[in-house]
Amino acid sequence: MMLRPLFLLALLSCVGAVGLSAQTPAAGAGTRPTLRVLVVTGGCCHDYPAQTQQLQLAVNALANVTWTVVNEGGKGTKAQIALYDQPQWSKPYDVVVHNECFADTQDPVYLAKIVAGHQKGGVPAVVVHCAMHSYRASETDVWREFLGVTSRRHDHQSRYPVRRAVDAHPALRDFPAEWVTPMDELYIIEKLWPRARALAVAKSEKDGKDYPAVWVNDYQGTRVFGTTFGHGLATWEDPVFLKLLAGGVLWAAGKE
Ligand SMILES: [Zn+2]
Repeated sequence: MMLRPLFLLALLSCVGAVGLSAQTPAAGAGTRPTLRVLVVTGGCCHDYPAQTQQLQLAVNALANVTWTVVNEGGKGTKAQIALYDQPQWSKPYDVVVHNECFADTQDPVYLAKIVAGHQKGGVPAVVVHCAMHSYRASETDVWREFLGVTSRRHDHQSRYPVRRAVDAHPALRDFPAEWVTPMDELYIIEKLWPRARALAVAKSEKDGKDYPAVWVNDYQGTRVFGTTFGHGLATWEDPVFLKLLAGGVLWAAGKE
């Protein structure tokens, strides 16, 4: 049976656009870098198709990107994505964006497969918002060491003041000295891992402490860029946040 294009598109977005790739136009390429980006997304609590679309718009402004989006695992807190069962699953890509949200998945064998894609000469990563609460139930730190932060809870939604923790970093690009987020969650960072470095911090309204909200991590020689913001679409439509993400993607990929 022939599927009409619109129906096929709807079907793809329902099941998660596994392997869906879209080449941006090469027009005006100039010195724009070329990137192959994998986005792994899905799970609880957020609008992943819309977030992914915003991410793509932001990075497409800076680079010519071939996108692969794996949106799987439903809307719950416990799932395992089949992609990670593939040996060398990360190899075809220049950078992997982890925007998945599975707090109750804790199988150490599964987690080892994920981080293996980034270890020792593996593929760089960008980790966003609920990636930091994914695999939270795990008793091992294997995922947290990869992220560069340990977080198990967040403060209420509010508009959080964010300030730079470093004068300059290539991942920050146009990031202002101070920025107030749209309504978002502040993730409480229990630990910044030794090879991670905070680039920007946000202040809790509850305890008055500054917590890393943007950071970079050196995971066994692999670049990781992270931010804990990104709960609602208001953040994903904020130009400061989008430029931050795009800058992080390019820096992680070594294309800054
Ligand atoms: Zn959230």
